[in-house]
Amino acid sequence: MAVSHSDYRKEQITSMRPAKRIENLPPYMFTRIDQLLEKKQQEGADIINLGIGDPDRPTPEHIVEALCQAAHDPANQRYPSYYGLKRLRDTISLWFEKRFGVALHPDREILPTIGSKEGLAHVSWALINEGDWALLPNPAYTVYKTSVILAGGRPYDLPLLEENDFLVDFDSVDARTARRARLLYFNYPNNPTSAVADGAFFERAIQFAKDYDLVLCHDCAYSEITFDGYKAPSLLQFRAGKDVGIEFHSLSKTFNMTGWRIGFAVGNSELIDSLATLKTNIDSGVFNAIQHAAIEALEGPKEPTEQTCLIYQNRRDLVIETMEQIGLKAQKPQGTMFVWARVPPGFTSESFSQKLVREANVFVTPGSAFGSFGEGFIRISLTISDERLKEAMERIRLCLSAGK
Ligand SMILES: *Cc1c(COP(=O)(O)O)cnc(C)c1O
Repeated sequence: MAVSHSDYRKEQITSMRPAKRIENLPPYMFTRIDQLLEKKQQEGADIINLGIGDPDRPTPEHIVEALCQAAHDPANQRYPSYYGLKRLRDTISLWFEKRFGVALHPDREILPTIGSKEGLAHVSWALINEGDWALLPNPAYTVYKTSVILAGGRPYDLPLLEENDFLVDFDSVDARTARRARLLYFNYPNNPTSAVADGAFFERAIQFAKDYDLVLCHDCAYSEITFDGYKAPSLLQFRAGKDVGIEFHSLSKTFNMTGWRIGFAVGNSELIDSLATLKTNIDSGVFNAIQHAAIEALEGPKEPTEQTCLIYQNRRDLVIETMEQIGLKAQKPQGTMFVWARVPPGFTSESFSQKLVREANVFVTPGSAFGSFGEGFIRISLTISDERLKEAMERIRLCLSAGK
């Protein structure tokens, strides 16, 4: 039978549908705020965006210079090795030993990644079988959940509650669920809550993983962005951490290198090996010149990162001071580039964020963007110039005192 033109078109359109795994991803929720922002911007409003999770400061010049030099060398213009440059892995090993006191085998326990997001997403694909459960903090960086769904796994929420200082409460997970789980993601210093975890917490996490035979995937992206002398631990520095865990590090926040796409996974050699096998079948590694720049970053002076931390620390103090003045409850964070604050009574995360856009021309991220247990909070980014941040705090203060 002849196919009519319109039938043919319809067929084509059907085949343009995404795969189920894409359709199964959680829907985007903040269309209304986006529309409001767009309208405001069209009207010429000067919106201050405190929703950006991207450092405002440039990459230190000596790192940029290392990239430029390496880019000229034809050897660096070819496909990189799947496992990263040996020199980079050696440098990471030295850096890790100095920083955390943990010895890592450069060939078996370290794998460079194309930013840590890539590793965090692919570790699900490397470890999860269809239908396996994965335990995920809520609220959280959304990559954990989406990658579990894409890999055919089932996400199970671990609420991060204020009364637990936003730490995963292992005792609240029932044994049946824990036994069914293949892996557990967690992240301290934490985005979005900016909570940090102490040694006892890490030891509890390792015990939990051993009790239920599951893998710990620790996202350590903010290990170097800390304040007031606080030093964040690595999962691997605790006994048996390396037996049960893989940890993801990133140069993005430490050296203001988000656009460069470089991070690394460290930990259990079998887990590293599984991730590497998956990656060799998908990507071709990190541009060699960027790996040389990463070597420069990790071997280079500590001052640029210390400077970055001081800048965020001062901005944190400014934001916390404002939160206190207007009566919004917020913990003073010891790390990350965020302040996590409670919305005033009578508001949801979204309605408060909308109010600030509408009445103060300031955008803050609704906590619910990071999961249902983020409801009732907003996340304020510290990645904007001191001057603009001051202006934003002034606007928020005025906006909230106007209603009183
Ligand atoms: C920024 C961030 C990362 C790092 O991402 P890259 O891919 O390394 O740039 C990882 N986890 C969290 C929670 C982050 O906020």
